[in-house]
Order: sequence, then C-alpha cells, then structure tokens
Amino acid sequence: MITISRLEKSYGSGPGAVRANRRISLTIDDGEFVVFAGPSGSGKTTLLNMLGALDSPTSGSLTINGNDLTVMSPRELSRFRRDHLGFVFQRSNLVSSLTVMDNALLQLRLQGRLTDSSRRAVAELIDRVGLGDKKTRLPRDLSGGEQQRAAIIRAVASAPALVVADEPTASLDAENAAGVLNVMRALNYELGTTIVVSSHDERVIRVGRRIVRLTDGRVVSDTGSTRER
Ligand code: ADP
Ligand code: MG
Repeated sequence: MITISRLEKSYGSGPGAVRANRRISLTIDDGEFVVFAGPSGSGKTTLLNMLGALDSPTSGSLTINGNDLTVMSPRELSRFRRDHLGFVFQRSNLVSSLTVMDNALLQLRLQGRLTDSSRRAVAELIDRVGLGDKKTRLPRDLSGGEQQRAAIIRAVASAPALVVADEPTASLDAENAAGVLNVMRALNYELGTTIVVSSHDERVIRVGRRIVRLTDGRVVSDTGSTRER
C-alpha cells in the first residue's frame, strides 16, 4: 500500500518558487491501476518521480509498503528502487547493448534473484506480449511499440511493489498506444502488480480503473478507487 500525505514539492524557493505538487494526499492499494491525468505542467512527472524514489518531496510524507521514503538516505533510496520499483518512461529506457531477454532479466540479476524458474517466467511474459520471436533482438531492431512492451516486461519482471510509468505511450501512434496499454492492464490484472501511469492522452486515461486528475499541482478529482466500491 502507498500512502501519500500532504505532499508538497516546490522547485526553487522564495517568490519565484514553482509549487509543482500541492498538498497531495492519496492512498493507493496493492494491485490498483491508477492513471494520473492532467495537462502538461500539472505536476504528473513531479509526483511520479517522488513515487519512484527518484526525487524527494519538499514536505509531507510518502510511504510504500511501510517504508517511509522521506527519511531514507540516497543510498537507501537507490537500494529501494532496485528491490521494490519498476520504471517505464516516455521513451523506452532499455539498455541498448542488451537483448530483449537480457533487459527483462536485468533487475533480477542485479538483485541476485535470477534462477532457472524466474528465467522461464520472464520468457513466458515476453511471449505473452507478442515478442516471443524477438527475445534475442537488440532494442534498436524493434519498433517503438515493441520497445515499450519490452520496457514494460522489464519493469514488471522482478515483481516490484510498484511500477511507475510516466507517459509511456506519448511517443506512440494510436494502435501501438492501445497495444501497450492492453499489456499494462493485463499484467496488472494477472500479476497483481500495482501500476501508476501518467498521461495527458484521453485514450490512455479511459483505460484507468482509477483516475486521479491533477491541475496546477493539486488533485482536483479522484474517481474509481477500490475504496469507493
Ligand atoms: P507534467 O509532467 O504534468 O507536465 P511536471 O511535473 O513536469 O508536470 O511540472 C510541474 C511544474 O513544475 C511545471 O510548472 C514545470 O515547469 C515545473 N518544473 C518541473 N520540473 C522542474 C524543475 N526541475 N525545475 C523547475 N521547475 C520545474
Ligand atoms: Mg510530465
């Protein structure tokens, strides 16, 4: 479970400071698929960077499965990222010198958890997203949509507590965007991975079970949360 309480993030200080996130309080349950929606500049990337332990709040608290990220040292945060988080960015963040399979296995390898059975499970995931015949290809030999599907497998392969995806379909056409979203939704459903996605694209936003809308750094609506049902 993720608990965000009165979270604030400002860039700069004094009268010129930009308040990118303002008094954000939210709870995200395990297994939720949440879309942070809002126009450019509304604070989505700022919030996802904090959820992904890539940046720290100016004030407020943020806990993921009982771990308070706001009290961790940089070294602890980096270990937390490795062991508990997965990331998908706007453009695929695959390692260009590694094959699809080796990219997918990378985090498990770094965690020292790579086994024959985890290798088989990851190979199955790659098959599931239609990249079965491309396991030994390098990222540059894949289309943009295929790269994003491979990046999603990489993010979920080590069964992280949370996968953070910042505008994962922004560089894709409609058909590929739909393919990438379907993969994310299916993996959320089948693996139970908690996924938070940001988007300003209504096609993406529609896919979310829970939609949190941001405007000027504030949460202006939050619909479809499991807690309401
Ligand atoms: P979004 O992802 O929704 O487009 P961002 O989180 O990137 O929004 O930005 C929120 C606000 O914070 C914007 O006004 C943006 O200009 C500002 N901002 C983002 N990153 C920085 C930064 N590193 N330094 C200063 N201002 C920033
Ligand atoms: Mg952004």
